[in-house]
Amino acid sequence: MNSSQCPVCFGARLKEWGTKNGYPIYQCTECTHVFAGEVKLASNIEDEAEFRRHITNGAADDDQAQYEQLCRGEREGGHVFLTTRMILDDLQRQQCENKEWLDIGCGSGYLLANLQRRGVKPTGIEPGGWGQIAAREKKVQVVHGLLELGTFSKKFDYVSATDVLEHQSDPYVLMKLIRHYLADTGRAYLSFPLADTFRPWLMRARWAMVIPPTHCSFFTRKSFARLAAKVGFRIEKFAQYNSTGFRGWGRLGLRLAAANKIGDALRIGDQGLVAISPLAPRCDVKLPAAADD
Ligand SMILES: [Zn+2]
Repeated sequence: MNSSQCPVCFGARLKEWGTKNGYPIYQCTECTHVFAGEVKLASNIEDEAEFRRHITNGAADDDQAQYEQLCRGEREGGHVFLTTRMILDDLQRQQCENKEWLDIGCGSGYLLANLQRRGVKPTGIEPGGWGQIAAREKKVQVVHGLLELGTFSKKFDYVSATDVLEHQSDPYVLMKLIRHYLADTGRAYLSFPLADTFRPWLMRARWAMVIPPTHCSFFTRKSFARLAAKVGFRIEKFAQYNSTGFRGWGRLGLRLAAANKIGDALRIGDQGLVAISPLAPRCDVKLPAAADD
């Protein structure tokens, strides 16, 4: 795959959205996926400072500061709070006690801690050092590193990757890993910025979610459906939500939670949460040989 090729459908007919941080931003005219060109795969980056820039947006220099910044999303109405609540609401209809759960890119560990309180057995994996701070502070299990084949020798009943797909210059690789680690009867939850919504339609490359090289992949409903089908997943649920209020919400004296509800009612939310499950494994039934009379 090169940067003039769509990482979802491999199409080469691209529309320019502009540039951001020196990276060209394209939209594929075939599957509508939006992506930043010329971004390296995180697993190919050996320089530690550059790796950190790729996974943190250079927002915080040290792990403690990054952990504290991530924790700000846990406040009522915050992004991490909302994403976690939507997943927990969906789980209410399922028997998830004692089930094994893998949370990829677990950040501040908020989802892990909430799952643990519900009797789930969660494991997190996080390439940033703040994951180990989360493990200590929230008393959860977090592996330090990037997920690869062979990181774990078991399958999980559930896999989640909240706000991880937008960091992948080749999202196909991550989706294949999710399929690899998910049991055939399992369910996965993914959240990511949604590019076929009002803000990106208006702002294009100036959309706040476009932060290459950190955020470099932006799905639409169509491009996500394309990728999910390619990897062998059925989409069970697809929810659009708002997590950043709207312009001027603070001056109106609103709380973030209330501002987000108004955003949801107006359908201006630029985030998506999906639940997916593996398509049934292909059944290769052998027909009995014709009986000899
Ligand atoms: Zn495409």
